[in-house]
Amino acid sequence: MHYFNYKNDKLYAEEVSVEELAETYGTPLYIYSHRTLVRHFNAYKDAFAKFPHIICFALKANPNLSILNIFRQLGGGADIVSGGELFRADKAHIPHEKIVYAGVGKTPKEIEYALKKDILMFNVESDQELEMINKIAQKLNLKARIALRVNPDVDPMTHPYISTGLKENKFGIPIESALEHYQFAATLKNIEIVGIHKHIGSQITDLSPYVNALERLLLLIEKLKENGINLKYLDIGGGLGIQYNEETPPTPAELINKILPMCNNLDITLIVEPGRSLVGNAGILVSRVLYTKKGAQEFFIVDAGMNDLMRPSLYKAYHSILPVAIKKRPLVIADIVGPICESGDFLCKKRKMPALFQGELIAVMSAGAYGASMSSNYNSRPMAAEIMVDGNKHYIVKERQTWDSLILGENVLTL
Ligand SMILES: *Cc1c(COP(=O)(O)O)cnc(C)c1O
Repeated sequence: MHYFNYKNDKLYAEEVSVEELAETYGTPLYIYSHRTLVRHFNAYKDAFAKFPHIICFALKANPNLSILNIFRQLGGGADIVSGGELFRADKAHIPHEKIVYAGVGKTPKEIEYALKKDILMFNVESDQELEMINKIAQKLNLKARIALRVNPDVDPMTHPYISTGLKENKFGIPIESALEHYQFAATLKNIEIVGIHKHIGSQITDLSPYVNALERLLLLIEKLKENGINLKYLDIGGGLGIQYNEETPPTPAELINKILPMCNNLDITLIVEPGRSLVGNAGILVSRVLYTKKGAQEFFIVDAGMNDLMRPSLYKAYHSILPVAIKKRPLVIADIVGPICESGDFLCKKRKMPALFQGELIAVMSAGAYGASMSSNYNSRPMAAEIMVDGNKHYIVKERQTWDSLILGENVLTL
């Protein structure tokens, strides 16, 4: 569900014409819908209302400060995976008692920063990381609150690159030996055990792996209790999918209706870490057709490349791509490609679509998650501008990068 719709054959972002936005701000252009972001956050909030909970937005999906600020205003916290993300969460004034920190490779510097910021908890992924956090907490004369990230070994049935809860994935500690790791954590003086965490993968469209993983965690929570380890937080991770094409992902309400009854007799606060499902359908990437060309294959060459939106190249991900103005035109089978000097630079391949004209605008739908956040300067292309639409108003939330900023920090070495 989102607020990008056609009116009189022209695509609108809420009440503003996308064509007008592209004229004003240039292309490629990320457009976010405020109303959609609020709607998606409130879907989680309403669904969880009956249970103590914290909704920690997974920053890596889209760390734009304006987006963080919207979720903070609605009561959200943050799920971070780096010191840089903590810096952003801090800049958006997200309360530190609503910040959880995951990731297999936290550096000593990042751990110290997070300890000084007094975040809610570290989601710890190994014994060595526990020892490192303990050592740094001792130096600072603090106690570090931790959860162990448990790898439940379930298949989330998603793309292998975004599956994280299988035993061959690098994430978490194996569920079979979790008790021993908790017992080890309990021996560390500057560690306070407060929770348990799982995150099995992303773009999950079937709830059964989610439920299976949770069942395994609940058994473990029982076992921990029998061994004198009582937890305050159960962090169920993120991962709910969105509609890119024909998927019918479960809603937050469907997810919560499945899992709340399982948790009802627990005296625990639930943490959920949605990323994609909050921001994915709240953003589009608008691009202009530079050239069309036809040889053995028909190509539409646009001004957005894999540096702006990496998902098609990286995961062969499907994004619906729509002309910003509907016109009568023939259907063709074509590739939409970017200007980057790589054959892997495409937005779609061999897709049946209305033929595009030189100079017209297209909208790549569902680009709000893992779009701008994965963008790069490859081919020395400045990163796209990002704007927020709210009703009939629009605001720039990230300036288009300049050529000057491309060389910031670089020196011309003359030997
Ligand atoms: C990426 C990530 C998320 C968010 O995943 P989505 O699929 O975008 O909801 C949540 N938790 C952790 C630990 C993550 O790494």
